[in-house]
Order: sequence, then C-alpha cells, then structure tokens
Amino acid sequence: MWQVVGQAKAVSLLQHSLKREALAHAYLLAGPSHTGKMTLALNLAQALNCEADEPPCGECTSCQKIASGKHADVQVIGLTSNGNSTEAKNRAEIGIDQIRQMQHSAGLPPFEGRYKVFIIDGAEFLSNEAANCLLKTLEEPEGKVIFILLTANERLLPATVISRCQRLELSPLAAAEVEVALNRRWSVEPEKASLLARLSHGCLGWAVSAVLDTGLLQQRAERIDRLLNILDADYEERFAYAIQLATRFSQSRWEVQEILDLWLDWWRDLILIKAGCSDIITNVDFKAMLVEMARDYSLTQIRAFINSIQAAEKQLRQNANPRLVLEVLMLDIPRRNYG
Ligand SMILES: [Zn+2]
Repeated sequence: MWQVVGQAKAVSLLQHSLKREALAHAYLLAGPSHTGKMTLALNLAQALNCEADEPPCGECTSCQKIASGKHADVQVIGLTSNGNSTEAKNRAEIGIDQIRQMQHSAGLPPFEGRYKVFIIDGAEFLSNEAANCLLKTLEEPEGKVIFILLTANERLLPATVISRCQRLELSPLAAAEVEVALNRRWSVEPEKASLLARLSHGCLGWAVSAVLDTGLLQQRAERIDRLLNILDADYEERFAYAIQLATRFSQSRWEVQEILDLWLDWWRDLILIKAGCSDIITNVDFKAMLVEMARDYSLTQIRAFINSIQAAEKQLRQNANPRLVLEVLMLDIPRRNYG
C-alpha cells in the first residue's frame, strides 16, 4: 500500500508506469516542504524491490529494510552539515564527492534487490559542480538504476537537470484531508487534529512533526505572545525587537521567515473575520481574541499591514539589510482604533 497521503495524481502515474514497466530513469518530485516527497520516493523504491504481488506491500523484508533505511540498494543523498549549527546548514551544499560516490555505486549491480534507487533529498542544494556531474549520469541512463530528486525549491535547479527527469508535482493537501489523516493514522484527538491541520497549511509532514514534538506548538504560543506584546509596545521596544530579529536572521534565516509567516497568518485571520469567514481562520484556538481584535482595526489598516509583511519577506529574500527592513516593518504596525 502506498503510504503517502493524498497526491493521487503522482501515485497513479507511478502505479501505471510500474504496471507497464515503463519507468523513467529519473524523477523529480517537486513541492513544498512536508508534502510527502520523501515518503513517496521511499514508496517507489519499495514498489521497485517488493517481493509481494501487490507492491509496495510494506511488510516483506525488502519493504521493511527500505523503510528503516537499511536496504543496500536504496540510498539517500542529502545535506551533510558539519555539526548541527544552523550556520553550517545555511552554507551547506551537496558536493561533487557525494555525487561521484553515488555514480560509483550506481555502476555496480544491485546487491540484494532488483533496482538500485538513489534519492537526492534537497536537490536544490547541489553545488554547480555536483549538478553538472549528475547531469552526465542522467544523460546516460543505466539499466536497473533509478534516481529520484526531491526539491522544495525547483527554480534553484538547473533547467538542464530538470529536463532529464520526469517531473511529478506534490501539492499541499486540503485542511480536511490533513485532519482526517491525523485522526485516523496518528490517533490525534479531534480538536488538536483540527488546529494542526490549519496550522500546517496542508503540509501533513509538518503536522505530524508537531504531534511528535510538542515543542513546536509551545514555540508558536511564545511567538504569538511576542506578536501581541509588540503590537501595543512603544517605538523603543519595537526597534529593540527589530534588532533582535535581525540578529536572529544572520544566524537562522528560516526562523525569522517562520515568525513573519505567523504574523501573516494572524493578520489574514483578521481579514477573514472582518469578511464574516471566521470558520476558515488558521489560528482557531485564538478565535475569541482575534474577533475582539478585528474590531480595533479597519480593513484598510489590516490590508496595508499585510502588504508590509509581504514586502519585508520579499526584501529579506533579496538580501536587503535585515535591520532596516525589520525597522520599517515595526513602523508600519497599525494603530488600534479604540471604541
Ligand atoms: Zn514488499
């Protein structure tokens, strides 16, 4: 059984190719983080090597070995950062040595299965040299070898590499699908499943990690707390926060990105409430507070501030001076209209 949730189009295409034994030599699975790319890649590796009549069965020795990362013919290549420092991760790339080792291994016959499968996780992190080296392999496919490239950021991949792969797109799921999956497969109680489904924006993998790691929800609560403080803080405090965020940004871009995304969700919820669509807000557990807050701001103010957050995110992506960008954002926070 295919373990990936949703993604019916990609799964049925792969099933069809498996039945007709018309597989591509390389696949590119493109889609946002946590939409099931690795799950689907491992499922395909299982299907190719499964010993049962209805592959992937998930139960035979081969399927189990692949699921636990112990199959000799299925390898995952990805970022190998030195230590856990976020700085190392920011700089990391998949280097040419990793691709050369992979090519060497691809040249040997399968050891215990029928197919050799190489999964390149985070293909957008391939260095230029590594991508060129990989390209040669993709241009001269070998028999029982399949490459699966995973990327959340396809536009960073060379067009030449993309053109050698069969491309499968994975999309975020509907919130209801995430909710049902959390409830049925991970036995999450309904209220929490509903909240996580909304917070995940359809990326089931994120919701599952929030089930396993309660720290993620705790962190969100702290970030919302900070957001609420800053809204009513004076300029001095807001600028101090801008500096604090700018310093975080230099160490961990993703973290600041996540905070701004949370701000966006919050202000979008205010618009939804103004528009009478409070049943589809993201932060359901703060509904009462959001409803109250929506009264303090006009629609124009909310829209303008959403634009400011989006502009700040864009400028940060374009490497503008983070302190300047964040200070402007702090200045743009609208004033409450009491009564
Ligand atoms: Zn199996």
